[in-house]
Amino acid sequence: MLNLDFFTKQKAYFLSGNTRSIKKRIQALEKLDSSITTNESRIFEALKKDLNKSNFESYLTEIAILKSEIKLIKKKLNKWSKPKRVKSTLASFPSKDYLLLEPYGITLIISPWNYPFQLALLPLISSIAAGNTVVIKPSEHSPNTSKLIKEIISNIFVEDYVKVILGDSKVATKLLELRWDYIFFTGSVNVGKIIAKAASKFLTPVTLELGGKNPCIIDKNTDVKLTAKRLIWGKFVNAGQTCIAPDYLIVEKSIKKNLIEELILEIERAYGKNQENSEDYPRIINQQNTQRLISMLNDQEIIYGGNHNVDKKYLSPTIINNPDLKSDLMRNEIFGPILPIIEFNNREDIFKLIYNYEKPLALYIFSKSSEFYNDIINKVSFGGGVINDTMIQFGNHRLPFGGVGESGMGAYHGESGFKLFSHQKPIVKKGNWLDISTRYAPYEGKLKSLKKLLRFLN
Ligand code: NAD
Repeated sequence: MLNLDFFTKQKAYFLSGNTRSIKKRIQALEKLDSSITTNESRIFEALKKDLNKSNFESYLTEIAILKSEIKLIKKKLNKWSKPKRVKSTLASFPSKDYLLLEPYGITLIISPWNYPFQLALLPLISSIAAGNTVVIKPSEHSPNTSKLIKEIISNIFVEDYVKVILGDSKVATKLLELRWDYIFFTGSVNVGKIIAKAASKFLTPVTLELGGKNPCIIDKNTDVKLTAKRLIWGKFVNAGQTCIAPDYLIVEKSIKKNLIEELILEIERAYGKNQENSEDYPRIINQQNTQRLISMLNDQEIIYGGNHNVDKKYLSPTIINNPDLKSDLMRNEIFGPILPIIEFNNREDIFKLIYNYEKPLALYIFSKSSEFYNDIINKVSFGGGVINDTMIQFGNHRLPFGGVGESGMGAYHGESGFKLFSHQKPIVKKGNWLDISTRYAPYEGKLKSLKKLLRFLN
């Protein structure tokens, strides 16, 4: 049974004003930062147990981004949180107009297993920066990391301020029955819909960071070797279990053969000929997901890899040629180390294919032709993307990160994250020394002068 006392306590803590001081918000983030440093080896160990991540990959994709986010917030929070003067209108003259950023209050973060440390703590950092209290419900499928997150958080924060609650979907369901001031969810589209429905009960604002099938388009006008290198990195980091990993390739026919050769060379350069022996190649999160991915290979033309061991949660980097578009592999988000390759002859083939799918979270294009990539980025809607590389959009905290359509709503990172967890409250402070009487009833005979006045003001 979930004891819900914490909720009343967090409400009281928030209402008492404890979370509001900018100095205290920064101190809280400093505590989190130094605790991440102190626990670095335990974080590595937990991620190794959950996903067999190498320390290098764990640092790059789970720790570094948190530290740089905290560093940025420490530098900028004073500026971001100041009331922002905006120009007044002549219609409200005389007045001072400004925007206040106020914390929402009690916030809930529900996170997934694929980057279990980073995706639980990055929204926490934004929410603390904005002055909220936070409850985190991390994923049950990455138990070692989730347990460590709970320990780290309970050692540095009172539960009235930040609390971690472990558990599965049943626990999440119970939490969603409460009246939160903001809900931030990262996970699958299907669960995202459940979250949005639960939030609608109290009209709670919600951010949904979801997934989808991310296309990667490769023009003939590209450096094939470099393309292969950047692509293999983006696809096989975390064994493809990344929401913004390239899901499938659409390659210009004339370079396909050459690209495949380079992709294979690059896989073997990065992870060796037998990737099961590589220290750097992660595992699938659990046997059920390994089985799900293996089933996706049925009846497909495997041109590289396909080796697997369900007990060891292993699936080697795998390349599929000309996948069946009606198959499971091409109808669902892959979220694993399988790379299907489709060829195109002309631009129309690309649009026809991409428009079959919901709006993706990411889109990648490799091309030296600005006409080629601009045509695509201007015609296709997607969360965010990169030209001539993969995944690096996530690393720039000056760029908001989020989806569109089925890949999500709302965007965070850096100032966007701070704003996301803040209500932007517009205030007009009216002066009393002048009072133009046109707007007051009775209106008889005033319409003409109203129109004249508005023509003048606009
Ligand atoms: P998931 O949706 O199964 O689970 C995410 C969280 O929701 C977990 O904490 C889980 O306990 C909880 N949950 C599960 N069922 C629930 C329910 N019925 N009610 C309430 N909560 C419930 O996702 P996952 O398998 O952990 O993660 C993989 C998915 O997440 C992929 O689709 C991936 O693309 C997406 N993802 C998106 C981003 C992003 O930033 N946009 C990042 C990582 C992963």
